[in-house]
Amino acid sequence: MTRRRNLLISATALVGLSLTAPTPAWSADAPIPVVATFSILGDMVERIGGDKIAVTTLVGADGDAHVYHPTPADARAVSQADILVFNGLAFEGWLDRLVEASGFDGVRVVATDGIQPIRLDDDDAHHDDHAEKDDHDHAAKDDHDKEEHADEHDHGAFDPHAWQNPANAVIYVDNIAAGLAKADPANASTYYGNRATYVAEIEALDADIRKTVEGLPEDRRTIVTAHDAFGYFAETYGLRFVAPSGISTESEPSAADVATLIRQIREEGITAVFVESITDSRLLEQIADETGASIGGTLYSDALSGPDEPASTYLDMMRHNVETLAEALSP
Ligand SMILES: [Zn+2]
Repeated sequence: MTRRRNLLISATALVGLSLTAPTPAWSADAPIPVVATFSILGDMVERIGGDKIAVTTLVGADGDAHVYHPTPADARAVSQADILVFNGLAFEGWLDRLVEASGFDGVRVVATDGIQPIRLDDDDAHHDDHAEKDDHDHAAKDDHDKEEHADEHDHGAFDPHAWQNPANAVIYVDNIAAGLAKADPANASTYYGNRATYVAEIEALDADIRKTVEGLPEDRRTIVTAHDAFGYFAETYGLRFVAPSGISTESEPSAADVATLIRQIREEGITAVFVESITDSRLLEQIADETGASIGGTLYSDALSGPDEPASTYLDMMRHNVETLAEALSP
């Protein structure tokens, strides 16, 4: 009895990744199944789709989409979805294989379609190479897994963190609304109506961030954080972000990168560094210790927080980040 159940379970696990989409008999009122690759997109999709859709988010709250490993349940969700929403710009290095395994043939929405991407310069590229060239002297035990897979997903030539500029978020939302309207024309007016409301809120957010940043003294606009996730935010609001890790969390910063950063913090008299919700905070704590800087708080870069924390929606995440920066950096 137990044995038979075990056999059934392992058979299910085996076919999990090769499930093809059943043809569902959706009634006209059934919510449209949508998959969003990570929490920030999941929130945007919910805002546009409302109760007309049912969203499955693959990389959830506090998850790191750079180093994600899809599960059989993810393949099932994608195979049953009518719409797949993803960031693009090589952010989800694991997605192509997942989509192929799932047999998905619905509407694909590339959220970054039409944005002006930030091209990564040679410095950024070198930055990421360090971990591989380095002796593995500081590669921690629990990073073994990360290192093994570092070669599998190569990040692209562009910075994928485009949502950190609210003007890009509006483009994300436009792409999502157009994708939902294409898959479900009967509810197009609902999607475009939700879009209009949401875009007004994003524009108000942008104005608020601008006002807060304007209040920061010119000599307090360098921000130290864990990985280079805030390039678009920096470009939009005239801030400078520096980080020990590059554009992805896949590779460990080298000892030389960390030493350079520590020197820079001392020379420029930077007083606060910020940890990120998706990455281990120990390196930043060590940098704070060595430089006498304080930990200015937690920034949310690539993922929303859980529902009871301060960054559970895109709008709340952006507000939380700028308020945290202003509190720690104001004189
Ligand atoms: Zn990132």
